[in-house]
Amino acid sequence: MELPFAEAWKIKMIEPLRKSTRQEREQWLKEAHYNVFMLKAEQVYIDCLTDSGTGAMSDRQWAEMMLGDESYAGATSFYKFETMVRKIFGFQYVIPTHQGRAAENVLFSYLVKEGNVVPGNAHFDTTKGHIEARKAKAIDVTCDEARDTMLEVPFKGNVSLEKLERVLLENKGNVPFMVLTVTNNTVGGQPVSMKNIRETCALCHKYGVPVVMDSARFAENSYFIKTREEGYADKTIKEIAREMYSYVDCMTMSAKKDGVVNMGGFIATNNKEWYEGAKLFCIPFEGFITYGGMNGRDLNALAQGLDENTEFDMLETRIHQVQYLASKLDEYGIPYQRPVGGHALFIDADKVLCNVPKEEFPAQTLTCELYLEAGIRGCEIGYILADRDPVTRENRFGGLDLMRLCIARRVYTDNHMNVIAAALKNVYDRRDKITRGVAIEWEAPLMRHFTVQLRRLE
Ligand SMILES: *Cc1c(COP(=O)(O)O)cnc(C)c1O
Repeated sequence: MELPFAEAWKIKMIEPLRKSTRQEREQWLKEAHYNVFMLKAEQVYIDCLTDSGTGAMSDRQWAEMMLGDESYAGATSFYKFETMVRKIFGFQYVIPTHQGRAAENVLFSYLVKEGNVVPGNAHFDTTKGHIEARKAKAIDVTCDEARDTMLEVPFKGNVSLEKLERVLLENKGNVPFMVLTVTNNTVGGQPVSMKNIRETCALCHKYGVPVVMDSARFAENSYFIKTREEGYADKTIKEIAREMYSYVDCMTMSAKKDGVVNMGGFIATNNKEWYEGAKLFCIPFEGFITYGGMNGRDLNALAQGLDENTEFDMLETRIHQVQYLASKLDEYGIPYQRPVGGHALFIDADKVLCNVPKEEFPAQTLTCELYLEAGIRGCEIGYILADRDPVTRENRFGGLDLMRLCIARRVYTDNHMNVIAAALKNVYDRRDKITRGVAIEWEAPLMRHFTVQLRRLE
């Protein structure tokens, strides 16, 4: 008999979870104004809000914490971290920052000028925010396949070369760089193929435009290249990552994802001019260039995290778990963005709560229902998150209305996945009876989803 799959680690330390009753959850959710961001974490049984900074560190990472050098300048921790970044990505110049958006802030302060245009495959919200805050424009050039949630293609995060070339042609001399995000978070953690990375970079370079890789899930992207793209099956994750970065000019990284640390980020490049330019913004925003907003112990843990999370077994364990949950949903017929990506499932709420009108926010309603059902916290990536049109002030109902369930790295077991799937099935089975959603009582003018206050409609 063939041996079944099992995790590539065992558990040394546990954190107790607290279950709750439906009655308690009804009360808590009401107090949170039907916004799960306002819940206390202790009111949540299984937390799928985000995979950012929520991973479990290994014993080796914790051991590295003890070896941290907290010297202000020139700490051994910095050099350990710098050596690892050089080894994995092949970039000589490294600037640590406290998280991914801080890396964007430092780099873009140097690179982005008013009126610039920055194309990208679905910029992450903070990336877009940092571009728009500088009165520049972020233009999405993701392939059209990404918009069809039922379409099964292996690299749905890819750049559309036609869309990209149009932007490059129409904005000659006004594009400081292109952002290539791996995996493509916004469209569901969907990977970008090596072929597409190569062709995207060649096209940008033809127009003299450098490429910055937004790298939060670079290791998961490497895993998908290894398992899905011809010619890469026999390469190691580290070899694949090295090739990906050989095409781009610079990277920004949120280490809270594939670095498997709770806080951290960095910029790396071989462009000395960019390094010198960005460095000047690191000091006032983040701190001196050998710590950049991070403790010595955190730099050590990150160096170790990068090393172990670019090993195949570690990634296989992770992606296997996400795919296991997806297979359960297949069994129950629950629609999600297909094929499942690396870090999360995106449930197509429009197709589940068909009786809830758009104006009453189906994905937010589904998020509330799942929490009430079993204390599981997902999050809405839909019409509330889309904010209002800046000109007409109308709600934007043009995009997808999804509920995202992120899976933290090395935190939950497959038994927890079973609970998530069963809870979703229970909600799905009574979907026809759910006819009313939620209404907005109060909202912020921008990024309203974090603080919005809602009312349940009867
Ligand atoms: C999380 C993330 C960021 C921002 O990083 P933070 O560490 O949350 O500041 C940027 N880009 C992508 C693709 C991300 O997933």
